[in-house]
Amino acid sequence: MTRLNENYLNLKESYLFSEIAKRVNKFAEEHPDKDIIRLGIGDVTLPLSKSVISELHKAVDEMADAKTFKGYGPEQGYDFLRNAIKDYYHRNGVELEADEIFVSDGAKSDTGNITDLFAVDNTVLVPDPVYPVYVDTNTMNGRNIIYMNSTPENNFLAMPDESVHADIIYLCSPNNPTGAAYNKEQLKIWVDYAKKNNSIILFDSAYECFITDESLPRSIFAIEGAKDCCIEFCSLSKTAGFTGTRCGYTVVPKTLRFKTTDGGELYLNKMWLRRQTTKFNGVPYIIQRGAAAVFTVEGMNEAKAMIATYRENAKIIADTMDELGVKYFGGVNSPYIWFECPFGMYSWDFFDKMLNEIQVVGTPGAGFGRNGDNYFRLTAFNNKENTINAMNRFKTLFE
Ligand SMILES: *Cc1c(COP(=O)(O)O)cnc(C)c1O
Repeated sequence: MTRLNENYLNLKESYLFSEIAKRVNKFAEEHPDKDIIRLGIGDVTLPLSKSVISELHKAVDEMADAKTFKGYGPEQGYDFLRNAIKDYYHRNGVELEADEIFVSDGAKSDTGNITDLFAVDNTVLVPDPVYPVYVDTNTMNGRNIIYMNSTPENNFLAMPDESVHADIIYLCSPNNPTGAAYNKEQLKIWVDYAKKNNSIILFDSAYECFITDESLPRSIFAIEGAKDCCIEFCSLSKTAGFTGTRCGYTVVPKTLRFKTTDGGELYLNKMWLRRQTTKFNGVPYIIQRGAAAVFTVEGMNEAKAMIATYRENAKIIADTMDELGVKYFGGVNSPYIWFECPFGMYSWDFFDKMLNEIQVVGTPGAGFGRNGDNYFRLTAFNNKENTINAMNRFKTLFE
């Protein structure tokens, strides 16, 4: 008889977004005249930029001509894109080699697939609240997960507990869902902890492009010693609106290695190359051409203009919270505003109150972990007009 991976029985039913949709649809049916504003969106809304579209078109035309047609490409990405990413890191003060950069179809796949490189009996440390992918992929593999508390007391930036040992540590900064971002000193403490414990940090920097405070690190590799204990995942999804286009990249330093049980050594860069060349056949040439356009001066300026639009929305939300005296996190170096539910409410009850009384949809913090029970996430990804209207309605809750 076929035996299945019964670890899947241990996955929690992912009902967050389906439950939101269910409640919103029911309300809309019963109140067809009401205008609902959605600030729960975790997806970009602005179209791809001019130079990306132009490069995509050119690449499509290349595919139409036998002389420039491309078949299978290098699984780890074309050199033109790996070098463009390397230059981008260089401009941000981090030196990498092109073959430390692996192009992929996104950070979600890579943060999940990286688990292939680790034995099942590692202990995994994840913050609570958290992006659910880290927990679910390790649960599928049957790994033991321990949680660290992100709370208002630590500004939703969990720090290492020296009395707890972990082999694999997930960090996401700027964070989804809390919007909180670690500074260099805090990340240095994490790197030191990882080195002391002989463990690895899997660092998700999907929101680095939202960082405005120049003193904050955009990459874990801005921290001394990180190349000995860290892998970084990044993506063009939030940077340049590639959520539907699909392109990300993962940095695995060539120095990163661990001892094997027989006393030898394994290099993570070589293992990841082997894994990707075996299980992945690369990102489409056309998409990689579009992605390379993001890293040109013009493309970067266009991406920055898009992010500035979202940032303006974030500020509208943050200013409203300030005005109302609602305690919040994020909103500055992040498209997310994470706030304590007013009136001492539980997040799903506050969700219902917002929907019923002002028709604004957000995301209940309970969906991201126990420490989110009394918190709520709003996003900056709607347009300015809707964001202003939503905040005017939000103020009426306090009258
Ligand atoms: C959006 C997001 C990503 C990006 O995922 P892609 O697969 O590249 O679209 C990665 N990590 C977090 C925490 C995110 O919110």
